[in-house]
Amino acid sequence: MSTQNKIQVLRTPEELRRWHTAQRRADKRIGFVPTMGALHDGHVSLVKEAQKHADSVIASIFVNPTQFAPNEDFDSYPRTLDSDLEKLEAAGCCAAYCPVARDLYPEGDATKVYVEGLSSILEGEHRPHFFGGVTNIVSRLFIHVAPDVAVFGQKDYQQLMIIKRMVKDLGMAVEIIGAPTIREKDGLAMSSRNQYLSADERTKAGNFAGALRKAASSIESGESIKASIDQALKDIATAGLGPINYVAVRNADTLAPLESDTLEKGTNARILTAAWMGKTRLIDNLPLAGKK
Ligand code: AMP
Repeated sequence: MSTQNKIQVLRTPEELRRWHTAQRRADKRIGFVPTMGALHDGHVSLVKEAQKHADSVIASIFVNPTQFAPNEDFDSYPRTLDSDLEKLEAAGCCAAYCPVARDLYPEGDATKVYVEGLSSILEGEHRPHFFGGVTNIVSRLFIHVAPDVAVFGQKDYQQLMIIKRMVKDLGMAVEIIGAPTIREKDGLAMSSRNQYLSADERTKAGNFAGALRKAASSIESGESIKASIDQALKDIATAGLGPINYVAVRNADTLAPLESDTLEKGTNARILTAAWMGKTRLIDNLPLAGKK
């Protein structure tokens, strides 16, 4: 017989508030994992990470309209609530907050949260609307859920940096933790959007991750960053992806370009990429540690 506690599904801010009050009365530290649903093992790993830092973990499931441009996949984004709740419950998640848009964006709403600078580079150059939508929704979710700690995936590395910056700038009392990227056997980073890929595209997408790994190990072994990026661009194109939006090596904390063309000892850097596989846009990144 399962000893698993049933997950509480909270559909309104009022239900959430009651849950929150009960947790506080019981002196529970609250961990939060925001998601857009269509959950996979990457999301589950965030719940597990949150459990290391909190007594009660709550996930949110909300497909946020403001982070999609009009030509993007908001309507077709996979919505799989029943299986999402099963996965969260199996992971030991205490509650799921599943609000509707009106709860987060009241009628006539005129308030925006935007992190300047970081939101307009890399991903922001190709999806200018995106990070504004992310900081708008995450700031609102933080106010609704009022967690002690929140966990985000390093899979969306720039997003993680922007959330950290937002929390610092606004003095929000929430600790932000970044959790490692969970990958498929061939190295492809798990993503809810991978289900858009055809069988052939899925095979090619594995080589996208391989090209990034190859560039990372070449840079870590002291090769020219520029030459390694050029090779990665060729490898990604050969794998059948295109257009390639960027392959970039940046300071891992500031996302600023590096000054040197080789990775210096002690430099904390990151290689980041985005490219299209057919109609699906894939992103990935890896840490780089200077060894010399
Ligand atoms: P999403 O539902 O795609 O908005 O993602 C919700 C959270 O899951 C974000 O913090 C993502 O960075 C994280 N996430 C998505 N894919 C992965 C993955 N493969 N490994 C770890 N975390 C992930």
